[in-house]
Amino acid sequence: MNNFHSAKSVREEMNAKGLKFNKAFGQNFLTDESVLEKIVDAAELNKDDCVLEIGPGMGVLTLELAKRAGKVISVEIDKNLIAPLKSTVKDFSNVEIINEDILKVNLAELFKEKFGEKPVKVVANLPYYITTPIVMKLLEDKLPISDIVIMIQKEVADRLTASAGKKEYGAISVSVNYFSKPEKIVDVPPHAFVPQPKVWSQVLKLSVYSEPPVKVKDEKKFFNLIKGAFGQRRKTLVNAAGNYPPLNTDKEKVKEALCALGLSENIRGEALSLTDFARLSDLL
Ligand code: SAM
Repeated sequence: MNNFHSAKSVREEMNAKGLKFNKAFGQNFLTDESVLEKIVDAAELNKDDCVLEIGPGMGVLTLELAKRAGKVISVEIDKNLIAPLKSTVKDFSNVEIINEDILKVNLAELFKEKFGEKPVKVVANLPYYITTPIVMKLLEDKLPISDIVIMIQKEVADRLTASAGKKEYGAISVSVNYFSKPEKIVDVPPHAFVPQPKVWSQVLKLSVYSEPPVKVKDEKKFFNLIKGAFGQRRKTLVNAAGNYPPLNTDKEKVKEALCALGLSENIRGEALSLTDFARLSDLL
């Protein structure tokens, strides 16, 4: 019987299997049962659900997902964890473990092969060193994902969910709000893990929109505008966007567009809301 709900028992289990925590892979394993419950509750799972788990580790979350969901695919990069993981979930026929780097997996193909046309929920205690590329891959690649429930570093969660005018607000906040409705579930202290990370964490739920809440004529231009605006965030938007080659515009045009929207020509990108960015990109 596995017991992953105390630091001592996880360490004993790892020792017994000759395993070491691999820092380079961001291995901090969750031991706090109440946090585990909040993660699976937030995912609102039922037996029809298809779940992708990223970084199952020793399988503490995988077990709970297997109990509640219809089918679970768990992608783990560390080959040393595959045999222990398989042993953790041996009583569940609805779990498949894949030994891969999630950033290299073609998720569209994987979903089609394993889940057919069904929508997918992503539930994961993410490796913190690659949080942003994972979240952007999940959101930008137009995959059939309905919900994402993830544990990430709190500081990063603050950036993903920041609103205009806040110091944490950046290109990624605009993107996350364009693709999904973010909801904070719970803040998690370091002692909920073994080994303990140096930082606080947060469980975050992103309910993915089937249609973005603002319409833009040209999505590529919209994202270029956001990149240009925040690439040089200390500059005014006129200077930052007017000198950003992928936008193929100039300062005068940006000034005119801002004026047409009733915004100051001295405004910085960090003061623009998602809707402002959408309207500005349509005008440029
Ligand atoms: N789910 C487990 C838990 O809650 O205790 C482990 C979470 S731990 C924070 C992150 C996990 O992601 C580790 O098992 C690590 O090996 C795995 N991982 C790291 N990089 C990965 C990658 N590129 N692709 C897939 N898994 C990865």
